[in-house]
Amino acid sequence: MKILVPVKRVVDYNVKVQVKSDGSGVDIANVKMSMNPFDEIAVEEAVRLKEGGKATEIVAVSAGVTQCQETLRTAMAIGADRGILVETTEELQPLAVAKLLKALADKEQPQLIILGKQAIDDDSNQTGQMLAALLGWGQATFASKVVIEDGKATVTREVDGGLETVALPLPAIVTTDLRLNEPRYVTLPNIMKAKKKPLETVKPADLGVDVTPRLKTLKVAEPPKRSAGIMVKDVAELVSRLKNEAKVI
Ligand code: AMP
Repeated sequence: MKILVPVKRVVDYNVKVQVKSDGSGVDIANVKMSMNPFDEIAVEEAVRLKEGGKATEIVAVSAGVTQCQETLRTAMAIGADRGILVETTEELQPLAVAKLLKALADKEQPQLIILGKQAIDDDSNQTGQMLAALLGWGQATFASKVVIEDGKATVTREVDGGLETVALPLPAIVTTDLRLNEPRYVTLPNIMKAKKKPLETVKPADLGVDVTPRLKTLKVAEPPKRSAGIMVKDVAELVSRLKNEAKVI
């Protein structure tokens, strides 16, 4: 079984981004970039399926600028066998990424595609769902457990107030939630090995996909600043302020 794992290069989760002064977006010049954390979980899950004898090949895919090669090398250091970079400087929105992944899925014929549930930069949570629709495959989103057996995937999903278990025939789409696994540390020998793994580069046009953005960002703004807290001298004052000033009780 071949597994395709899309991995996105995003601003590192430790970086506090600044909104550009013209409100057109966030400033990502000279900030640390890393693999989207949910995608690390996706690669880890694919590698565990391969180690468990359920998968034979893992192909990591990243769409974006040339530097996405680094993200693909990280995926290969975790254990992906090869990488495909869909190179473009165009701003990529979820529908465009889903179309690119659909074209690659048609070519590569994977039995399973494991994506992150969302990219932590624009928090869209759309690509996996759109890809499932374009391919006409079943999807299990927000997975916290994946079992592959007898040509089907049994996936436990994190839903409001509990867990839901669904079974879906392969090929299928799975998107990862935080509790699916804890990705391994990337070791130096594996980073060195990853440098020798095959990395193919294609352009959106090679896949016959038009990635022109469909949505326009009107404005990006910082959340309002929280005002400072106040000290109250006793419970009576607290209750009085909650009642009369905050008007919450
Ligand atoms: P989103 O719908 O943007 O929140 O992204 C959900 C998932 O789609 C991510 O966790 C990735 O697995 C995948 N994805 C989104 N954008 C890209 C991209 N440019 N390259 C590769 N994978 C992507």
